[in-house]
Amino acid sequence: MSKVQDIYGALVFDEHTMQERLPSATYKQLMLTIKEGEPLDLDVANVVAHTMKEWAIELGATHYTHWFQPLSGITSEKHDSFIDPIDDGHAIMSFSGKELIQGEPDASSFPSGGLRATFEARGYTAWDPTSFAFIKDEVLCIPTAFCSYTGEALDKKTPLLRSMRAIDEQANRVLALFGEPHQRVVPTVGAEQEYFLISEKDYEKRLDLMLCGRTLFGYSPCKGQELEEHYFGAIRPTVNNFMKELDDELWKLGVPAKTKHNEVAPCQHELAPLFANANRAIDQNLLTMEEMRLLASHYGLVCLEHEKPFEHINGSGKHNNWSISAGGKNLLDPGDNPISNLRFLVFLAGVIQAVDDYQELLRMSAASAGNDHRLGANEAPPAIVSMFLGDELGRVVNALIADEDYTSGERTEMDLGVAELPNFLKDNSDRNRTSPFAFTGNKFEFRMPGSEQNLSDCNMILNTAMAKSLKEFADQMEGRTDDFTEAALDYVKRTLRDHQRIIFNGDGYSDEWPAEAERRGLANHKTTADALPCFISQKAIDLFSEFHVLSEPEVRSRYEVKLEKYNKTLNIEVRTMKRLVRRVYLPAINRFAAEVAEHITQVKTALPDADLKDQEAKLRTLLYGASEINKHLRRLHELHYESQQLEDQQERANMNAHQIVPVMDDLRDAVDNMEVIVDHNVWPAPTYNDILFYA
Ligand code: ADP
Ligand code: MG
Repeated sequence: MSKVQDIYGALVFDEHTMQERLPSATYKQLMLTIKEGEPLDLDVANVVAHTMKEWAIELGATHYTHWFQPLSGITSEKHDSFIDPIDDGHAIMSFSGKELIQGEPDASSFPSGGLRATFEARGYTAWDPTSFAFIKDEVLCIPTAFCSYTGEALDKKTPLLRSMRAIDEQANRVLALFGEPHQRVVPTVGAEQEYFLISEKDYEKRLDLMLCGRTLFGYSPCKGQELEEHYFGAIRPTVNNFMKELDDELWKLGVPAKTKHNEVAPCQHELAPLFANANRAIDQNLLTMEEMRLLASHYGLVCLEHEKPFEHINGSGKHNNWSISAGGKNLLDPGDNPISNLRFLVFLAGVIQAVDDYQELLRMSAASAGNDHRLGANEAPPAIVSMFLGDELGRVVNALIADEDYTSGERTEMDLGVAELPNFLKDNSDRNRTSPFAFTGNKFEFRMPGSEQNLSDCNMILNTAMAKSLKEFADQMEGRTDDFTEAALDYVKRTLRDHQRIIFNGDGYSDEWPAEAERRGLANHKTTADALPCFISQKAIDLFSEFHVLSEPEVRSRYEVKLEKYNKTLNIEVRTMKRLVRRVYLPAINRFAAEVAEHITQVKTALPDADLKDQEAKLRTLLYGASEINKHLRRLHELHYESQQLEDQQERANMNAHQIVPVMDDLRDAVDNMEVIVDHNVWPAPTYNDILFYA
């Protein structure tokens, strides 16, 4: 294998390549666009496009695509070749500035939540020069935003970029109050991706995994994750080879894959990259997910990115590590001198206010059919948003709230009047794994998102809510140069007092917490159906329009798309379940029951006085099991039919979440109970024991 330094970023048209290949005037112009957001001139784009094409062809590319994130959350691409036939029967390879800047996919096949009537199928993709182009499978991929011709965003990237602009604007106002020059402020994100790897052979025998990404049936394995040996254990050789190739491929694509290890559940693993600005980090995460799915097949494996492929063992999340960086300096780093401490406190209070005020939206951003199996299931954070600050920072915040001097664990008195914070906050690694939103030394970790989700949604919300906090601070403080320090500290104390309820350092899995959270007035939306409506609340619409992140129609369309996706997923799961029960599981159970009956008859003939109590009991259990299955199946069928009659998508979602899912659980249990008494050779699908403990 070639050295990492040689391959890293080899397939990315990054700043280094741009500087090396572009005429210097073009390079400078492009940098102004990338770094300062200046519009790109078509002449400049033509030069960039030509250079990019030459570079891509040298690396074997034949096609290009505008790579974008439709509302369904998965990336999309349509490949066009560079070929431009000319009259003499030859072809030249061409790529113009116009083709680079703007593309026209047929927008009609992407979800728009009613934003674009189907006859108005046109939409366009627009190059996002702040995320680098790269080559994947001989295709030059150009990260783009996707909009309708009337300018509404039809993708996840556009509002994210708008929210980043809002943070930049408002944070600069705050930094100016601290005497800092104008600089580029960006939210930073590090996405820890969890996933499962199972054998292709087993996968192919499980229609539920193939169609739904998760098992709809399966009795708990004899051995689960209780010994915690998988987490610490050596990585399987095949998996290790997969991980090596994955690292190599990601490094070539400039994705800074950093940490890889086994996770808690058998067959579960994690990959964490170094953080980057939110836009690039999310593109990189989507690319990582794509590479994982693709490369697994090289090893006879299948990568499962679903939040809950298997019941009874942990599901997969995607921790969203988030901070704000100003000209490369981390604004959530407590720092070690008083004035940067005050700045830290202002930003900290801003985050606390943002998370408290928009807790429901944050919860909503992590809502999906898949993630409903994780949140609140004592393996992932509860569905209630709260914040964990850790012991030390928790004490600082308490002292500020009580307006007292701060005494640290080491008993050093500190005068909060000058806002001096201890340096050791940074190294404070006290973790609370049950907290959905935890301070981890110099960043926050939002732990609700599911492994399959696009992190654009939660970051768009987080950034916008944070921009609002910062705006409020700036609005009140601008012009107060004489007593700024004092006024700012007062502001911090007031804000912390107002939003104290969101801070919770206890055990999020305890039975007391939901009751306590309710007393505090915190929201607890247990399912996607309950979580989605807050998206179209006046409060949310106001927030997004104030910062020009989403217009009201854009908000409504996103809500519609999420609802529809939830309902469609449930519909597929129910249909798969019914099909499997009727055509696979019940026939197998009945065949086995017939075998047992036959056995009983034969023994009776051969040995009329034989004691057949146990065999008869087994036969009765099988018959009873089959009738239970039939009962739940009938109920599911009725409810499913009823739900299909509901025109209103929210009503249908409510019915899915509150009536259909419980019956699916009953049906599953009834089938699983049979799995453990039917002969393994007769059982028609690989069991959890088979799937999770392959060699
Ligand atoms: P752990 O959570 O296991 O302690 P790390 O602290 O190394 O792991 O970080 C987890 C993720 O957080 C990594 O992807 C890392 O790059 C990211 N991260 C670290 N600092 C920041 C930051 N300032 N902003 C956003 N993400 C960050
Ligand atoms: Mg972490």
